[in-house]
Amino acid sequence: CGIFGVVGVSSAANFTALGLHALQHRGQEAGGIVVHDPDQGFNSVRRFGYVRDNFTSQDVMDTLPGPIGIGHVRYSTSGSKGATAIRDVQPFFGEFAMGGAAIAHNGNITNADALRRELIERGSIFQSSSDSECIIHLMARSLQRNIPERMKDALRRVEGAFSVIAMTRTKLIGVRDPLGVRPLVIGQVGDGWCLASETCALDIIGATFLREVEPGEMVVITEDKVTSHRPFEPARPRFCIFEHVYFSRPDSILGGRSVYETREAIGRELAKESPVEADVVCPVPDSGTPAAIGYSLESGIPYAMGIIRNQYVGRTFIEPSESIRNMGVRLKLNVNRALIRGKRVILVDDSVVRGTTSRKIKEMILDAGAAEVHFRIASPPTAWPCFYGVDTPQREKLLAATMTEDEMRDHLQVDSLRFISLDGLYRAVGEARGRDPDAPQYCDACFSGDYPVVPADQLERGFAM
Ligand code: 5GP
Ligand code: SF4
Ligand code: MG
Repeated sequence: CGIFGVVGVSSAANFTALGLHALQHRGQEAGGIVVHDPDQGFNSVRRFGYVRDNFTSQDVMDTLPGPIGIGHVRYSTSGSKGATAIRDVQPFFGEFAMGGAAIAHNGNITNADALRRELIERGSIFQSSSDSECIIHLMARSLQRNIPERMKDALRRVEGAFSVIAMTRTKLIGVRDPLGVRPLVIGQVGDGWCLASETCALDIIGATFLREVEPGEMVVITEDKVTSHRPFEPARPRFCIFEHVYFSRPDSILGGRSVYETREAIGRELAKESPVEADVVCPVPDSGTPAAIGYSLESGIPYAMGIIRNQYVGRTFIEPSESIRNMGVRLKLNVNRALIRGKRVILVDDSVVRGTTSRKIKEMILDAGAAEVHFRIASPPTAWPCFYGVDTPQREKLLAATMTEDEMRDHLQVDSLRFISLDGLYRAVGEARGRDPDAPQYCDACFSGDYPVVPADQLERGFAM
């Protein structure tokens, strides 16, 4: 999901809509904005679909007055899936002591089932099926005397991955979980401040990047100042390495590194690790593009746009239903025949999950008369589900969970298939010595099975680590 918040500007809703629009790649199912105005109190709009279709008309924006606001774009990883229920669309707002608060959450709470059971037993009335709602109830039940303190109480009970933006009537609060699995940055805009999942959301409103919220940090922002708090036991950070590979936008800066440059470096690593003789390097757009450029630069094999992406289709993976995803590949990608016929083609994509994309692309490339097809993948085999906010399917559906690299190559019927090594990926994100096996610098559970936070709910549901 994508989250955004702003305080100290004339129309928080306008800035929030723009910020969310820049974060649309992080969630396309639904979006919402909550604002507060001294005269008109809290107001919110939550809708299915794209930001540009819901938060551009004057009629809607006029219902969202005030100098402070937060917003969320949704990509369902918990709660209802497929047809998201409107009740699961964030931000969530709760009225309780001291005027209440609204929250927007990116990530996934790994002990949400247990928390929800406990809260319901004690009388909480849930409005949604989302894991994130637990935070509001825990805040409402805390006995602390102000909302930031109540939020600390609440989040100390929560396990898993969370970047959260909350707002009260006057304050904006941003928190990252102790491992800092999901991103969150602070910007300065005019006389005000903003918080966003990624720096690309600062660029769109002309905000200056101040710094990242640090793993385990809570920042409390009023119109005139930012204060920093440390609510959790210190821990070694484990940022999601897949944000670098796929999830974030290439024009964002993560941990001081350009996402685009990291992806290009991944492509270079891939070319060094797994060279092959061929005539062209083609990306599977858009997610494979920077890595394909890196592969081409390193290998000297010309880059070609052998597959063209229809720009009016979103991220297919994120469409939760299998049938839409299957159709999605053809709706979204088409072969540029003139560049492919008779050629030995290297196809570069960011990941193979179920194998749907690669299988379809290979068929299309062979139909177009390619002489050979070689897949190069910018991440290691995805053999484990993510429980921290990326919607990978159950383990059985992951191609790499049941097959070796050679078996996958045969299954996909391609001439060769190679994934970047885990160490190669770490080198590309700037860890010159690769992955430290005793203390990995990132979360890489979907590749390694090494889960930095025990996925308690999943274990209870029978998941075997
Ligand atoms: P597959 O078709 O193998 O199931 O999925 C791989 C494709 O889905 C890749 O092209 C990748 O760009 C795309 N994708 C979109 N969202 C995600 C995501 O959240 N995780 C992964 N691993 N791949 C995703
Ligand atoms: Fe990121 Fe993979 Fe870890 Fe999920 S399991 S947080 S996708 S690295
Ligand atoms: Mg893709």
